[in-house]
Amino acid sequence: MQKPRIHILALGGTIATSPDATGAMQMGLGADDLVRAVPLLASVAEIEAETVSRVGSHSLGFDQINALAAKIRGLKADGIVVTQGTDTTEETSFLLDLLLDLDKPVIVTAAMRNPSLTSPDGPGNLLAAVRVACDPWVRAHAKALGVMVVMLDEVYAAADVLKVHPTRINAFASTQTGPLAALVEDRVVPMSLPVRDAITAARKHLAGAKDGKAAPVAVFWMSLDETGRVMEAVASAPDHLGYKGAVIGAMGGGHTPERAIAGVHKIAAAIPTVVAPRAGGGPLLRATYGGPSSEIELRKNGLIWGGRLHPLKARILLETCLRAGLSRSAVTEVFDPFG
Ligand code: ASP
Repeated sequence: MQKPRIHILALGGTIATSPDATGAMQMGLGADDLVRAVPLLASVAEIEAETVSRVGSHSLGFDQINALAAKIRGLKADGIVVTQGTDTTEETSFLLDLLLDLDKPVIVTAAMRNPSLTSPDGPGNLLAAVRVACDPWVRAHAKALGVMVVMLDEVYAAADVLKVHPTRINAFASTQTGPLAALVEDRVVPMSLPVRDAITAARKHLAGAKDGKAAPVAVFWMSLDETGRVMEAVASAPDHLGYKGAVIGAMGGGHTPERAIAGVHKIAAAIPTVVAPRAGGGPLLRATYGGPSSEIELRKNGLIWGGRLHPLKARILLETCLRAGLSRSAVTEVFDPFG
């Protein structure tokens, strides 16, 4: 039987590091090096390997991922595996998920332990990602699954996966929804399909708007006794310091400290501002608490409700909407189905 053709696109990250003369790890390896380190890949798939960049994922940008999505759209392969750093995997994978609507698997994988350490996870993660991309259930449900992240033998939906630890090998989890599938021996065991109605609806708004200009989005993280002065400063600065939108990492079900409320109102009047749960995801409240900085008042005052999206995911969606030139009311419509 013909093996599936899997195109590997390497961006850099820990998975692609090697030590320099001082012992510091540098992102120097390319896609061919990664493939060479996993001879078993050849028995699973016809592999094509391409080096896109050799950078840490903390230095990737929206433009690069938009360009990567365009490249992926043009590939003839049966499945695509992107290797990159773990620092931004939860963001880049969601951006790819918003930009791509393919009926073939697109998977992002990475490594927590670099190749110079005992038991690095990069080779195992790459093999697992390719296995997932080749799996008949995954291929049959590729559209329904959307872009996936494969780490440590689990498969996660890009909209939900989070990096939950800075250094541990089991650093990834979908805390709200759990994994979509698990790998055991050489099998992929399906466990769930994600609910993607909000993403499908968002795509309809975004359709047709391509190659827009970058639209930087600021994140303001709410915390005990926050004054809101940074929000006020950005709102009153010339051109809002270049920011076209903002995300507020809100407390609890969608609250900010009362003393920050002047800043919240100013930033929301200046640029489209989304409220998202700093608790890490899960739907926000809409109509429970009263008071000046409650969800009821914030919603009345033009704050856009991020629903279940983690603030980092809300920022990805907002940048994508603003880059596409969507109006404030269209942005509100895009976020509404997220809960
Ligand atoms: N700094 C690295 C990166 O994101 C970390 C990693 O890959 O785990 O590129």
